[in-house]
Amino acid sequence: MTKILLRDKLDDCIARWHAAGYDVIGPQKNNNIARFAPVTKASELDLESILPERTVKDLFFPQTEPMLRYQIGKQKIDTEEYLPPRRKRVVFGSRPCDASAMAIDDPLFGWDYKDAYWFQRRDETVMITIACTAADDFCMCTSLKLSPDSPLGSDVMLRPLTGGVGWHAELLSERGREAFERIEALLDDDANAQPEPIADVPVKFDLDACREWLANPENFESHFWKEISMRCIGCGTCTFLCPTCHCFDFQDEGDTYSGIRRKNWDSCSFALFTMHTSGHNPRSTQSARWRQRIMHKFNYFPGKFNLNSCSGCGRCSRQCPVDMGITETLQEITKVAK
Ligand code: SF4
Ligand code: SF4
Repeated sequence: MTKILLRDKLDDCIARWHAAGYDVIGPQKNNNIARFAPVTKASELDLESILPERTVKDLFFPQTEPMLRYQIGKQKIDTEEYLPPRRKRVVFGSRPCDASAMAIDDPLFGWDYKDAYWFQRRDETVMITIACTAADDFCMCTSLKLSPDSPLGSDVMLRPLTGGVGWHAELLSERGREAFERIEALLDDDANAQPEPIADVPVKFDLDACREWLANPENFESHFWKEISMRCIGCGTCTFLCPTCHCFDFQDEGDTYSGIRRKNWDSCSFALFTMHTSGHNPRSTQSARWRQRIMHKFNYFPGKFNLNSCSGCGRCSRQCPVDMGITETLQEITKVAK
């Protein structure tokens, strides 16, 4: 079903979703950084940026969150499990690469153990995605065989109409249809409204050639890894801003008698990530850590789930303080592979 959502009806849509019990969340700019946050009116949304600096991942897998509270008594330990409050949510204005990234991580969080936190939030969230009509030099969804209007992970796909007056809405899932029933009376049927063409995003590397090179055990110890990662300072920016990166660690915060067990993001770029208690570190150099990041995303993860652990958002290259990233590495692998 295709409908027209006019921009000047967006305030009313937000009010109706609120009245129906949905939280409405979208990209907002604050101190020059766009991130996803609750909105009460359309003017709070930043729908013009190519891509928010922070990803929608934060809404499903927060940077830090409590898992349980514990109290250690003389005879026993009391624990109280924490689960996030149940709330239906509309995420309005994610980009296709971010929505795809959530679908890419679904099998990971449901593989040997079903992560209740992730799936509760996935189940209660309606992803309303806006197809991209502009891209920058870092966007690379097409290199990952996705596209600026890829439907993966979206419940509704909005295509901007010429003149910026609104969007062509394509309902892709039951969750999307349910959310749009709440605003049915505000939608138009104008068959003449024309969506803008999607952005032209050039393919930047040969993914198949890269995957073949990475799968060859002879290349594991290649000099390539040292040369390509020489500049990396191990800051972790690329992993924390990546919508598909999913590594975490547990920390108990408290004193001898009570505290909170928290789940926190971790990063394969950090030296401490694989440090053993003995002091031995199997990934003792930054090049070994960078190799792991690339191998994980384009060799191990696809080997297990038949998906690349990258949606091509380009944030890792866009925000890296020393100007390196996945694109540059895969471009170089394409060269050596050929
Ligand atoms: S590649 Fe760049 S962003 Fe990633 S850890 Fe290294 S320096 Fe930081
Ligand atoms: S690896 Fe880089 S381009 Fe790929 S999803 Fe993560 S941040 Fe985006």
